[in-house]
Order: sequence, then structure tokens, then C-alpha cells
Amino acid sequence: MDAEEFRKKGKEMVDYIADYLSSIDKRRPLADVEPGYIKELVRNEAPIEPDSWEDLMKDIEPIIMKGTTHWHSPHFHAYFPTGNSFPGILGDMLSDAIGCIGFSWASSPSCTELEVVVMNWLGKMVSLPPEFLFSSKGHGGGVIQSTASEVTLTCLLGARTKFIRQIKGDDPNMEDGVIMSKLVCYCSDQAHSSVEKAGLVGAVKLRILESDEKGSFRGAALETAIKTDKANGLVPFFVCATLGTTGCCAFDNIKELGPICEREGIWLHIDAAYAGSSFICPEFRPLLDGVEYAMSFNFNPHKWLQVNFDCSTLWVKDSRLLAEAFVVDPLYLKHENEGAMPDYRHWHIPLGRRFRSLKLWFVLRLFGQRKLQESIVKDVNLAKEFEKLVLADTRFEVTSEVKMALVCFKLKGTNEKNEMLLKLINDDGRIHIVPSTMKGTYYLRFAICASTTTIDHVIFAWNVIQELTNKV
Ligand code: PLP
Repeated sequence: MDAEEFRKKGKEMVDYIADYLSSIDKRRPLADVEPGYIKELVRNEAPIEPDSWEDLMKDIEPIIMKGTTHWHSPHFHAYFPTGNSFPGILGDMLSDAIGCIGFSWASSPSCTELEVVVMNWLGKMVSLPPEFLFSSKGHGGGVIQSTASEVTLTCLLGARTKFIRQIKGDDPNMEDGVIMSKLVCYCSDQAHSSVEKAGLVGAVKLRILESDEKGSFRGAALETAIKTDKANGLVPFFVCATLGTTGCCAFDNIKELGPICEREGIWLHIDAAYAGSSFICPEFRPLLDGVEYAMSFNFNPHKWLQVNFDCSTLWVKDSRLLAEAFVVDPLYLKHENEGAMPDYRHWHIPLGRRFRSLKLWFVLRLFGQRKLQESIVKDVNLAKEFEKLVLADTRFEVTSEVKMALVCFKLKGTNEKNEMLLKLINDDGRIHIVPSTMKGTYYLRFAICASTTTIDHVIFAWNVIQELTNKV
């Protein structure tokens, strides 16, 4: 494919994408295929000679779309949203075209420098304390990583190295392995499974502590666990608090957890993967109060800020602590301007990194802060409308406070009844939702996901749920 052909086919692809996204509400949100379906539809070997573009495009609907779950359908209400917007797609197209691997400033200065700028923009949009931003004074700043899971692991490893160095400072003969066997980190039973994975990969002990009746991780639970662990000779070093838990969108009490971490010298990491985007709205920003106690803060603009996957933004107060964990410096990666700007390869595990800041820059510029705020507020209001519909039907109850664009609800009665309802809904396929459990209670989660969701889609979904409830 030469540039002229690309120009033509590219326009055809843009047309296909625009048609796909503007008529997506006509499609069944949940794919209706069995495992292995695609193997039946494609050849066993890659073609020896090139296929034609026309033949390839002919296969998109019957092979790819047949088995695609349409996350951007306004009838998709599962999990949490994942961002998608035309500005985001266009920014990513340009990033793909440039195709640089921006591991150091020298490997592509614009890749590093734009990231520094947009991370400060976004940090200011959520009113982070200045220590988290790039400035001439401190060592704070932001970096874009792929996922919240990767970020949690990154911060846990940064904290682990900090503690190993600290302990070795007092006792240089201590082996790293012996120190690691004493390190212990904490999260609540509502934290995302990625925290458990970070503990596994980081080879440290993890205490999963009981949340309160609202699903919030409270200071008293942390205090007790730290006391017990210290009495047993262990070293508490890392706490992961969640703002907007995956199950029911609970908020951990960082104003209680923070001072404990500060007193104990523990690294507090805040995972606000979903809810973090809402902090750009003044009415939701108080939910982030207490962030000043954290060493690191993360959210995913690729969830609720119109940016296409992947774009997970992490701010740290002291980037040197990440560099100490990750620095390896072969000669072929060095350059003569080191130190003037971040060399982002020291801020995370992979060497290679995409030009992700482009799509974030496109989104921030082409939407502007006000439109992004309006879109978050619209989604929360739609969730509140759904909540009203649920509450008006005496067969149902709402199981958690609706703070963001997620409603957790259930039929009054047994878990089995609710499992049956969920199966009916997803087998029916007109809408898609997923369940969760808290303290033994099974419930259904209704999230406002696609940015195109309107009140009509919410009413449609509720009508489907009511109709199927009559069958339970
Ligand atoms: N943390 C929370 C609170 C989440 O809700 C999720 C996913 O929904 C994650 C972490 C994991 O996100 P990622 O896919 O970016 O790793």
C-alpha cells in the first residue's frame, strides 16, 4: 500500500468508522457467538500472496463484528465505561503514523515534552496539590502508562525499593530477600484485583482488610492491621486506597488513611481508575480531598474522559523514587541532554512507549474543559434518573449510594432470584450489564457507559429489565 492508496483506503476506513459509531445503537451490544467461532470463518494459514483490500473489508462484518461486544453502544451498561471519541481516535491515528518509541527525551523530544505539558494540564484540572506537578522546584510530575494495573504495580515496586534502601541504610548486611519477606501492604476487600496481582508480582505480603458497610476502607481497620503486623516484626510499606471501587463505586476514606500512612512513613497510592475523571468537576472534587497525603495518584482518562484506550495517568510527588526502582542505563540509551527533561523509561517497567499524550492533547483541546465536565455531569444525572426508576418499583432496592454514573440494584429477595434476572437480561441481549457481590449479597450493576447515552436509552433499559423481571 503506497501513500496514494493509503489516502483512498484511509478515507474509506474513516467512513466505515463513522458509520459504525453513528449507528451502533442498532446492534446487539453483546456478541452472540460460541468460543472458537472465528476459527471456523478464517483460513488456517496467513495468505502467501496479498489479499485485496475489498476482500479484507468484506470480512469485517461477518467475521469481526459478528463476535464484537459493542462497548460504545448506548445499550452497553456493563463494567465501567471505556473512552471513545473522534478527537481521541484522530490523535491515536497520528501517534500510529509517527510511530516513535519515546523512551527518552532524545528518542523523540515532542513525545516527552507534550506528555509533560498535558500531565500538568490534567493535574491542574483535578486540582492536584502542586507537589504532584512538574515544576522547577520539586521532583513531582506525571506520566502516562497503559493501565491502572500497571500503575499500581509500578508504585508498589517504587515503594518496595524505597523501603529496601531505607532498611539497608540502617543494616547494610541485610539481604534484599530477607527485607522483602517482612514487607507488608494493605488494601480493602473492595480494591480491584490488580492490587492483589501487584502484591503477587512484587512478592510481598498483602493484607486485604474488611471495608465498612458502605464498602469504604477506614482508618480503624488499617490501624489495627498495622499494629498487629508491627508486633510480629513485619514492615508496613504500602497502602492502596480506591476512590470509586469497581464493585459498587465506594470511596475509601483517604482523610483517615492518609494521616496513618504519613505517621508510619507508608507510601499511600490512590487508585481512582474510573471516578478520577469526575474530579475535573468542582462538585465532585471534594471526593479527592486527602490526596495531599498520597505519594501517588492515578486515574484512567481512557475510562471516563473521552480518551481511547490506553491512557492511564499517574502523578507522583517524587519521581526519583520510581527511577531508583527502574533505572538501568546501557550506553545505547544515553543522550547528552539527560536531566533537563524526564526520561520516561525510568518511570515504569517497559522501555518502549507510545505517543499517548497526543490523543489526550487532542481530546483536551477539541472538547475543552467545560464540555468534558458537562459530559461527566450528564452521565451522573442519567444514573440518578435510573435510580429513580428503580426506586419507583417496589420489587427492587438500590444497594449503594449513587455518587457517580453507576447504580447498584437488586430484586428484594435471594441471590438466586437476582442471578436468574441477570441471565435473562444478558440472554435477551437488548442491553448488557454485569453483577457484583458485597458481603455476600449479589446485585446488578447498571453503568452509564457510552458518551452517547441519553435518557431514552436509560428508559429503554429499565423497560427491558422490568419486562424480564416479570419472568423471574
Ligand atoms: N482499579 C479500579 C478501581 C478499576 O475499576 C479498574 C478497572 O475497572 C482497575 C483498577 C483496572 O484498570 P486497568 O484495566 O486500567 O488496569
